[in-house]
Amino acid sequence: MSETREPSTGALQRCIEPRCGKTYGLNERLYVCRSCGGLLSIEQPREGLAKEDLRTLWRQRRASLDERDRSGVWRFRELLPFSSDVSIVTLTEGNTPLYDAPRAAAYSGLAWLKLKHQGCNPTGSFKDTGMTTAVTQARILGARVVVCASTGNTSASLAAYAARANLDCAILVPEGQVSSAKLAQSLDYGAKVLEIDGNFDAAMRVVRELAEDESIYLVNSINPFRIEGQKTVAAELLEQLEWQVPEHVVVPGGNLGNSSAFGKGFSELLKLGLIDRLPRLHVIQAEGAAPFARFFKEQHDLSGEFENVEHPRTLASAIKIGAPVSWQKAWAAVRESDGLVLTVSEAEIADAKAMVGRDGVGCEPASATTVAGIKKLVAAGVISPEEKVVAVLTGHLLKDPDYVSKYHSGQLRDVGEDGGLIEGHFKNRPIRVKADAVSILRTLE
Ligand SMILES: *Cc1c(COP(=O)(O)O)cnc(C)c1O
Repeated sequence: MSETREPSTGALQRCIEPRCGKTYGLNERLYVCRSCGGLLSIEQPREGLAKEDLRTLWRQRRASLDERDRSGVWRFRELLPFSSDVSIVTLTEGNTPLYDAPRAAAYSGLAWLKLKHQGCNPTGSFKDTGMTTAVTQARILGARVVVCASTGNTSASLAAYAARANLDCAILVPEGQVSSAKLAQSLDYGAKVLEIDGNFDAAMRVVRELAEDESIYLVNSINPFRIEGQKTVAAELLEQLEWQVPEHVVVPGGNLGNSSAFGKGFSELLKLGLIDRLPRLHVIQAEGAAPFARFFKEQHDLSGEFENVEHPRTLASAIKIGAPVSWQKAWAAVRESDGLVLTVSEAEIADAKAMVGRDGVGCEPASATTVAGIKKLVAAGVISPEEKVVAVLTGHLLKDPDYVSKYHSGQLRDVGEDGGLIEGHFKNRPIRVKADAVSILRTLE
């Protein structure tokens, strides 16, 4: 088979199907393998990258004012399939905080829990770390229009990066199912917002058809350049931990691009000798939108039938996905690291989210599946109380303010058949009080 490596970086795109493995040049515009339809993954030679040199180089760049060094993605550019003179599209993404979280730790039964807050990216979700590379690639390919299907955060992120790159942008969102905060971002960044009568999975099907048009570039996480940017969070996290590998890293699972990216990131760090073992990567889904958890439970290898969930239901709209595009990559990442895939209920998500808030951190509902999942894994004895655990918070608290106010006022309804009210153990209602000091002091007593 002919190899089609990019001369300047030696990188190529390879079909992940074991029976196919066909390769393509980096600048071939395609999203899946032309011969078998398999997902593509980017491969890059690792020769000549010494572990100590990389650690020092990456750390030194933090003091630099170069736009590529300011970005928490491009600072790790030795891991990225771009030539060194590429003109990047950036909003200074990455560089997100790693917080300790004593209340969330105690809540989940742990002594050591850290929250990697990817919601502190420029548009408020981890999507920015993949969008900087995908939109940079769009510009290299000379695309005119960039498109995506989205539950809200991908579109907010794409809209921003497209504006930076001066590209036209169209986003497809399920009508009435995207939080107004996320929609507001996309509108302000100037994207064409197309609301379709169907769910995310339907929007995804349509954009894949649209992307057959040569002038249109698709930047959902099926696009391997998204995964490349997103995987750098693994390096950033390990650097923050002084290269000490935690026992467990826990992520929410929707379309499964993020889990795939963490898996690829950790596995490349291991190959480079930057870490000496993989953290166990666990993926958490909401009960009503859990095709991956079901597959994980019922199938023992990739040859099994992956059954989509036709009507995914969860209040955590960012993971309301029934036909995850990247399940094969995510499955490999979970299996390689001896991880698990499990589900949590709406009530568990809601309380875990409130607990993350109590630590002064906060996140959107989808992100809180991690803390809810960790609590379950500790209770089940999978995680022991003295182990080190990192929960990845994928989106910012203000992404879904409607959910928050409903939770705290006891008006949040479950998605199940009966749709009962979620009790909420950490409610914090606003208090109406007369505008005088005596009444206020009495209330504060
Ligand atoms: C996109 C998103 C997810 C899901 O990530 P996938 O890569 O689709 O699995 C989870 N949480 C938030 C906040 C997101 O924006």
